[in-house]
Amino acid sequence: MTQKVQGIGASAGIAIGKAFVLPTWEWDVHAQPYILVAKELSPSQLVHLNPKNVLGIVMLQGGKTSHSAIMARALGIPLVLGLEGKISKPIQTGDTVIVDGEYGIVHIAPPQDVISCYEVRRDAYVQEADELQKIVSLPAVTLDDFNVQLGANISSTRELNIADQNGAEGVGLFRTEFMYMDRSYPPSEAEQFTVYLEAAEHCKEKSVIIRTLDVGGDKPMDYLNLPEEDNPFLGYRAIRICLDRQDLFKTQLRAILRASAHGPIMVMFPMITSVNEVQAAKSILEDAKAELREEGLPFNEELPVGIMIEVPAAAMIADQLAKEVDFFSIGTNDLVQYTLAVDRMNEQIAHMYDPFHPAVLRLIRYTVQAAKQAGIMVGVCGEMAGDPRAVPIWLALGVNKLSMSSRSIPRVKAAVRRSTVEQCKRIAQSVFESGTKEEIEILLEQQRS
Ligand code: PEP
Ligand code: MG
Repeated sequence: MTQKVQGIGASAGIAIGKAFVLPTWEWDVHAQPYILVAKELSPSQLVHLNPKNVLGIVMLQGGKTSHSAIMARALGIPLVLGLEGKISKPIQTGDTVIVDGEYGIVHIAPPQDVISCYEVRRDAYVQEADELQKIVSLPAVTLDDFNVQLGANISSTRELNIADQNGAEGVGLFRTEFMYMDRSYPPSEAEQFTVYLEAAEHCKEKSVIIRTLDVGGDKPMDYLNLPEEDNPFLGYRAIRICLDRQDLFKTQLRAILRASAHGPIMVMFPMITSVNEVQAAKSILEDAKAELREEGLPFNEELPVGIMIEVPAAAMIADQLAKEVDFFSIGTNDLVQYTLAVDRMNEQIAHMYDPFHPAVLRLIRYTVQAAKQAGIMVGVCGEMAGDPRAVPIWLALGVNKLSMSSRSIPRVKAAVRRSTVEQCKRIAQSVFESGTKEEIEILLEQQRS
């Protein structure tokens, strides 16, 4: 039975192929490329996929900024999610499926004319990507000479080449937790050192921001015996675990410090909500430094220390936090969910997950102003940084460091290169005066045309 279902487009691109429906895993060893269909995929399941075999993914549950969606984007696999309850007859293994990751549409057993139509769109998409490739080696500079550094968000050093191919200037967010997943004990200091060193050496003089372990939420880890929680995103997560489990934390900090002797590494703490947490984290960092000094192991004494601003509480005390650190990186994925009380994983309220909500924009503006007043660096590393519609906001606020999924870089670069700061300031002024999502979307869409 032919079906057309509207879901959420979470990774752009068009895929046409035969479905394989979980929980049958064996096909991944077959050479035949397929469209993967699953109720939900965890980030660690995605780590094991061979991207060459997966044309597209259909996930019944999940949100656009879930870590699985972020990984699919990093791998360039078209993804539609949030179809739960919308499909009248379940997709069967072997069904022909079209995944339209841009508009969030899935066609099941479509007629030949629909397939032909999508084949044309798929080719056009590939052609557009080829066009964008022409600017990857050019700088991200506005028409009036404002330079923006576009870094890559990576989850493993395997992604460094994809970052290069898309013109990334260093790594603006290394999500280290994936190194800890799918195993029965945490990675040793030596193992981590090798990985961080590889990133530092690969990026040469370009910076690599290593974020310390951010588990919990949608990234569980069996061997840490994390408790079952009703609200995992509001629970035992990230820096909260690290300040509790100092053995785990210090091992990571030692590895980061040792790698800092070999390249421009920076360290960043996630999920900060108070000045006390930053001071506690820095104090453990100092302990790690003291140990290394004693052992005669080299490290960068001036290792820059930053924090993620991803909880509204942190944004509201950004002026105080700025006194403690060298840089901020605004994590819009969590900032949006916590500000709007909208679970980033919940497809039922996905339409309410709005990075351009005036409350989010005000918190971002306040954070940037506090950083600038304190004279520290500020960048953005949530998925919003990879949305070309947000470019006028960053340029108007004077944010010159953005980090995103590598594949978003060329599109954002193109948007920067056709803008002027003056014009962006005018757009942003109207945006900040607008009270509704609709008004803001119209303003931001207009500047793209
Ligand atoms: C964020 O919250 O914006 C962020 C970059 O961190 P993560 O998506 O890994 O939670
Ligand atoms: Mg986050």
